[in-house]
Formats: sequence, structure tokens, C-alpha cells
Amino acid sequence: MQTGKINVQTENIFPIIKKFLYSDHEIFLRELVSNAVDASQKLSALAGIGEYKGELGEMIIEVEVNPKEKTLVIRDRGLGMTGEEIVKYIAQIAFSGAEEFIQKYKDKTDTSAVIGHFGLGFYSAFMVAKQVEIRSLSYKEGSKGALWTCDGSPEYTLEEIDLNQRGTEITLRIAEDSEDFLERSKIEGLLKKYCKFLPVKIKFGTKKEFVPQEGEEKEVEIEVENIINNPTPAWTKKPSELKEEDYKNFYHELYPHIFDEPLFHIHLNVDFPFNLTGILYFPKLNKSMEVQKDKIQLYSRQVFVTDALENIVPDFLTFLRGVIDSPDIPLNVSRSYLQSDGNVKKISAHITKKVADKLEEIFKNNRPEFEGIWDDIRIFAQYGMMTEDKFYDKAKSFALLKNTEKAYYTLDEYKEKVKANQIDKNGNTIILYTNNTETQHSYIASAKERGYDVIEFDNPFDAHYIQLLESKMEKTQFVRVDANTTDKIIEKDEPSISKLSDEEKKQIGEIFEKVVNKAKYQVQVENLSETDSPILLTQSEFMRRMRDMSQMGGGMSFYGSLPETYNLIINSNHPLMTKILHEGDEQKKENFAKQAADLALLSQGLLKGEDLTNFVKRSVALIQ
Ligand code: ADP
Ligand code: MG
Repeated sequence: MQTGKINVQTENIFPIIKKFLYSDHEIFLRELVSNAVDASQKLSALAGIGEYKGELGEMIIEVEVNPKEKTLVIRDRGLGMTGEEIVKYIAQIAFSGAEEFIQKYKDKTDTSAVIGHFGLGFYSAFMVAKQVEIRSLSYKEGSKGALWTCDGSPEYTLEEIDLNQRGTEITLRIAEDSEDFLERSKIEGLLKKYCKFLPVKIKFGTKKEFVPQEGEEKEVEIEVENIINNPTPAWTKKPSELKEEDYKNFYHELYPHIFDEPLFHIHLNVDFPFNLTGILYFPKLNKSMEVQKDKIQLYSRQVFVTDALENIVPDFLTFLRGVIDSPDIPLNVSRSYLQSDGNVKKISAHITKKVADKLEEIFKNNRPEFEGIWDDIRIFAQYGMMTEDKFYDKAKSFALLKNTEKAYYTLDEYKEKVKANQIDKNGNTIILYTNNTETQHSYIASAKERGYDVIEFDNPFDAHYIQLLESKMEKTQFVRVDANTTDKIIEKDEPSISKLSDEEKKQIGEIFEKVVNKAKYQVQVENLSETDSPILLTQSEFMRRMRDMSQMGGGMSFYGSLPETYNLIINSNHPLMTKILHEGDEQKKENFAKQAADLALLSQGLLKGEDLTNFVKRSVALIQ
């Protein structure tokens, strides 16, 4: 037996490590299992170049929990270590790496930035173990088995023991405050989280399964190895090896509780100037854009790193699902480091471009397919256009507008379509839109009668997109179909003729002002066509848009706090106005006006409570 002292300056760095890593203790398992994977792959590589001539056998890694003994064991059949190598790689290098880490961070008060994602490697075992034992037999000919024991103080012991299986077995004697790591289900959950796609088979005990028996009809329940991972996930294969079906199956393997099929996928495969593989899926997005819990997963050589990619990839990409794997994304750093890392930035830019290319490809090669998915990807694409200039530059050629006839147009196509009718006296193209084809039905119908086209923008988020388009498209304005009377919504230099004299128009205006709530409805008398409605409600595009955006959190809370107001447009050319002016006494005039105004409010769902009750009473009295 040999004893030694770990070469560290700090007397006892374990308590410090423990404190710093408090929230992320579980990563010890990822670290130990990935060491086992490394050791297995190294031996396979040595065999590949003829450096190792012995039997490789199956490179399986076993994880075991023994609640009685209070141990957790990780066993591999990799290249193993001699006693000297343990002292060198574990006691000296790994420990000094850990010490360096402590020196760097012990004075930092904001530990959360540090805790993020970094690996302390082997050392992290001491976050949960009060004693760690390494039993190892090196692949090298004539090696003797080694047992290394360390209880968390810088002293360790090393002795020679008899071992007959090549590889390394790490035994953690779990500390009292970490006994939850002796629960089978907890360990299985962690293995599935971090090790689901590691490239070497990982066995976690056995499980019972129904298996068809040869020569018999029945399935029989037998014990089978409980293999945690899929060592060859789809993204590690070449696109040419995979069928559509395989991509879909992999999607469900990644997200077992999602039943929706993805719309389409992008297989990423880059060697230069950085290394990146992965598969991204476009899910159907729901309108509310609720924060997704099934996110893109980031891997580094098949080791799970994180699925919290916010602020690491552009925001809009976090709506996608799938896997990104890059050895160039450093595992052992904090989030804030990741955010500023040059490689990570290049990778983000690359993905953004690939996503735009893919959409463009579908648009160019299969327009009907593209139109078919547009409603589902629209929010995603618009969000990308709003937040990433590079994405906008590509997407402006395939971003679509859908009109109320359900026909799709690119921005250029649409301007071309409406240019005959929808250019106002200042030369601006006016694009009319509706956010609700039901409630704005009469406005839409009236616009169409005039030969105008109306597009659909039914998402609250569209207000911001409209702002973007107006800032990017030349001489183009978007106006909601109920923002003005159809006559005025696109201002042209056409003279309007009035049947009423100016004096009569003033009188009719005054009658209506008496019967409506002036704070909410501003009365305006206008010369519309005789066949138009007698009374119309409109809401200024500007004010409404500002309110909508402030409600979405656009920082314009001033507008959000203003009361909602409308214009009550009186059509002076409608025969009803002549009737109100010239028939009956004052009371009768007001009754008619009130009835007509209420009808207009009713048609917009604005007549409520007592006003509605009174309206119904008056109507009944009228028909009696
Ligand atoms: P890293 O994996 O980043 O090198 P670690 O602290 O995880 O850092 O491990 C330190 C070293 O210990 C490894 O580089 C390797 O040489 C050795 N090692 C750790 N675990 C094993 C193992 N299961 N089999 C063989 N060698 C191992
Ligand atoms: Mg390691």
C-alpha cells in the first residue's frame, strides 16, 4: 500500500466545491459516464491502429446503484489505468484543474454565472460522495490491478489488487446529504437526461419485457438488459442513410410525449470552419406563442449540454425543435461565456442561414407545399424577420400575405395586385387588412364592393410585423379595414357630393351628439354613398395600433392607458338622415337618432348592459 498527498495548495477544497456547485450536483454522473465513454472509445481507436491486439469485447458501460451498501458504481471496459496513471491523471491533473477553478471563482459573489455548465470532470464525484474508489486494470500487457481510495481530503491511498477484467470501475460511497442519488429512478432519470445519445451502450441493471419466443405464439416476460441510450442517433448519420420515416421516428425519440408530426426538418452537417451536426424540426406553432417546453437540445459529441438556448442562439430559433451537436461548443464554461463565444456566434449565424435557405428551397421548388405550411410557420418567420436582419433579407422574397379569399401572395406580388385600385392621392400603396373576418364582416364586404382587396392578420403579434413592413416597403401603408369609411379609407382626389346643406349637416351632427356618449364616440358627418350604411363606427389606425402594441408589452404604455374611443360616422347622404331632419318633433328626431346609433354599436358588439336593455325595449315599442 502506498499513500500520497494530492498536490494542492488549498488544504481542503472539497467543501468549497460543494458549495459552489450546489445547484448542479447531478452533473457528476454525466462527467463520470462520459469519462467511461472516452476510455471505451480510446481503446477502440487503439485497436483500430493496431496498438491494442487483445480482445475488445463489447464496449458496454454499466451503472449500478446499491442502496444497501450506499454506493453508486460506474464500470467501463475501456483502456483502464495503471496505478501510476491514476496518480498522474486523477490525483495530479484532475485535482489541479479543480483547484485552478476554485482559485478563479472563490471570490465571486455571483455564483449562478459560474455554476452554469462547466465540468469539473472526475472531481465532481466529490459533490455527492464521501469516499471514491477507483479499481482499474490497464489494457497494457503485464499491468497489475490498481485500487485508489480517497475520502475527500488531499490524502489518498493506492494499492495493487487482483483484477481480471480490463477497464475501470468507479465506486462512489454516497454522502449522507446526497442519499437521493441512491434512488434508482433518480439515477435512471439523470442517465436519460444526459446520456440518452452517448456513443457507447449504457446498461442500467435489467428490466422486465415481453418478448416473442421462437416457435411459440405467446410473448413471454423475461429479464432484459436495461439499455439507457441510443448510441447512434439519427443526427450522427449521413442524410443519405436516412428516410423521411427515420427523421420522424427520431423526432418522437427526442420528444416522446409529443404526438404532432413535425412540418419538415433540416439536417445540419458542417465541417468547416467549425464542426456542427444536428437535425432541426419545424413544429406547428400555436397562435399564442406560448413558451415551449420542448426545446432544441445542445450536445457536445453526443453528451447533453443544455436545452436552455435562450440568448445563445437567436430568439426566433428557440421555437424550433431538434438537436445541435458541436464539439466546438465548449462544455466546461458558464452561460455568459457561451453567449460571447465566437464559435457559438458563428454557429448561430450558420443555423439562421440554413433555416432561411430551407424555407426558400421549399418556396421555390414547391409553392403549393409552402403555402400549405405558411400559416403554421408564419409567426416563426415573421419573428425572425423582425429580429434578425440577415433573416429578413432572405425572407422578404418568400414571406406571404394571405387575403380573405385565402389566396397567398409574396410582398411584391401583392403590391402589384393592388396597384390599380389601392394607391392614394399621395402615391402610397394602401394595404387593407382585417384581424377578424367575423366582426369586421360588413367593412370587408363594403371594401370588396369597391374593388379593394383585404388581407388577414389575425395574430396580436402582427401589429409589430406591420410596423416592420411599413418601415421596409417603400411608400406602403397598412390600414385596418374598419379604420375609416370605405370612401375615405384610401384617400383619393374625388370630389364628394352632399345632399344636405352645410347647415343641415351641422344640425344632424348635433342631434346625434345628444344621444351618444361623447367621451367615447366622436360624431362626424360625412358624404358617403346613399347605399352605404347610415352610420359607421371606425377607429383610427394609429391610435388602435399603439394600444394593441402597448398591450403586447411594446413599451408604449401611455397609449395603453388611454380610454378606447371611436368615430361615429353619420352618412349625410343616407335617406334616413333626411327623414330625421324633417319629420316629427325634437323627441322623435332624437329617438330615431338613438335607435340608429344603437344599431351601429350593436353591429360592432359595443352595445352592452343597460344600453342594450333599453334598446331592446325601444325596439319592441316601435314594432308594436
Ligand atoms: P477530462 O475527462 O476532461 O480529461 P477528468 O477529470 O474527467 O478530465 O478526467 C481526468 C483524466 O482521468 C482523463 O483525462 C483520463 O485520462 C483519466 N480517466 C478518468 N476516468 C477514466 C476512466 N473511466 N478510464 C480511463 N481513464 C480515465
Ligand atoms: Mg472527463
